[in-house]
Amino acid sequence: MQGAQLETLLRGAEGRSALEIVRLIGERFGERAGLACSFGAEDVVLVDLLCRAGARSRVFAIETGRLHEATYEAMDRIREHYGTQIDVYYPRHEDVERMLALGGPYSFRKSLEARHECCRVRKVEPLERALSGLAAWMTGLRREQSVTRAAVETIERDEAHNGIVKINPLIDWTSDQVWDYIREHKVPYNRLHDEGFPSIGCEPCTRAVAPGEHPRAGRWWWESPEHKECGLHVQTESS
Ligand code: SF4
Repeated sequence: MQGAQLETLLRGAEGRSALEIVRLIGERFGERAGLACSFGAEDVVLVDLLCRAGARSRVFAIETGRLHEATYEAMDRIREHYGTQIDVYYPRHEDVERMLALGGPYSFRKSLEARHECCRVRKVEPLERALSGLAAWMTGLRREQSVTRAAVETIERDEAHNGIVKINPLIDWTSDQVWDYIREHKVPYNRLHDEGFPSIGCEPCTRAVAPGEHPRAGRWWWESPEHKECGLHVQTESS
């Protein structure tokens, strides 16, 4: 998207609620916008908002092959509840086979580089395929989630993905707002949230957190906070 078009979009979104932003994106991009859904609390709120807004945006999921059983159940419940088609993207089998042959099924615990390689194979490459052909993608990022997300904007140009538009309608929401919305609108959600998982990713890389711990403390808990991203949300200087 050109700078002037992005400016127009930014002005159009100024002061709007998440529902209005989702509607605006639906009107502007139709099926050329997609919601990346990993079936965490923020993502199911966005599915609900999409349906409420009557937006034709696609919903897609990255199936890393290492998800929790509860996440598959959540996927099924969302599909049935909203009658939404969910496009599922898998990693390339030859990349997974190579990675397992070289490092075994827990290679990601051996070093930061090995963890990034696993996320690249299982998440980043499938995401790139999911985004190809899209003009915009939506995420459930919130600023308060982590230090790596503090500078994220509601709408930005995603330089890491060919400059397509990235929309984060819940960027200013608090965790309480997310859960108030889920309760008020009876949105189906991942049962792991009731079992101490505020943030949900792959099964071997996510654990429950204790009361008072940071919500993302259970993601890659053996790494320091500034490394806790999987490569899906890359911040560049111009984004
Ligand atoms: S979260 Fe863990 S299992 Fe999932 S892709 Fe990243 S390193 Fe691999």
